Amino acid sequence: MPLKIAIQKSGRLYDDSISLLNDCGLKVDNLKDQLKAKVRRFDAEILFLRNSDIPKYLEDGVADLAIIGENTLIEKGANVETLLNLGFSKCRLSIAFPKEFNYKGPESLAGKRIATSYPNTLTSFLKKHGIDADIHQISGSVEIAPNIGLADAVCDLVSSGSTLFQNGLEECEVVLRSQACLAANRKSITEKSALITELTSRIKSVLKARKNRYILFNIPNEKVEEASSILPVLKSPTVLPLMEEGWSSLHSVINEDDFWDVINQLKACGAQGILVIPIEKMVI
Ligand code: AMP
Repeated sequence: MPLKIAIQKSGRLYDDSISLLNDCGLKVDNLKDQLKAKVRRFDAEILFLRNSDIPKYLEDGVADLAIIGENTLIEKGANVETLLNLGFSKCRLSIAFPKEFNYKGPESLAGKRIATSYPNTLTSFLKKHGIDADIHQISGSVEIAPNIGLADAVCDLVSSGSTLFQNGLEECEVVLRSQACLAANRKSITEKSALITELTSRIKSVLKARKNRYILFNIPNEKVEEASSILPVLKSPTVLPLMEEGWSSLHSVINEDDFWDVINQLKACGAQGILVIPIEKMVI
């Protein structure tokens, strides 16, 4: 039986989901307007589903795996297992008030009308803080609710904050932080363990590669040791002799977060001809 992988059929997660699967060697043909597509050279099928339906389909075993926002899984209370965080679609579910409001903490929410598409997550947050508020569930364009008099505040997904800003709202409280994740049906984890292990290990290799860069540069021989100590290496750097007497070429892998710090230190150490190259996969 093929591994059934659910992804969003349209929306924010779609492009990143397809590109992650592609990078893992799961190439899908004829994507447009399909509900289901076969994968070439991997025993899997992709199911293109509505985002909000995915947790239920996953829980029921219609899909074995899904790429989905953690926020959606939590809101739907899905009994599934999160296997990996995928590092994209990072966002937070936040409470925002019109910017003139003087927010002092969760107690400021007491008795307020809050518009949201995440009633369950908001209810748990209010309960945790012992606050009684009036939740207005709406399915889209939550941010306009205060402007049209429907609510005093909103509880909505935020990434850059520009939508809130454009609507005169200010983020006051983060209820939940979320990103896309790979989630699994609990039974499928054992029943399809070989395929799931293979796919998760490919995803880990791709995610690791995306965070790292291959770096190579020339360095005088007497500086090789000093330059090596600057590099946060995988094992130890590769050192190759150059044709020019007294010089070596040093190769290593660096994390993109350390990138500019490391480059500046290497330059100060005498590195020349620094090349930085993206890595396609880092097999773990
Ligand atoms: P959508 O395309 O609106 O159905 O959103 C799908 C998912 O994208 C959401 O459930 C979140 O996990 C994620 N997402 C990331 N950033 C945002 C954002 N600023 N607004 C809405 N959704 C976001």
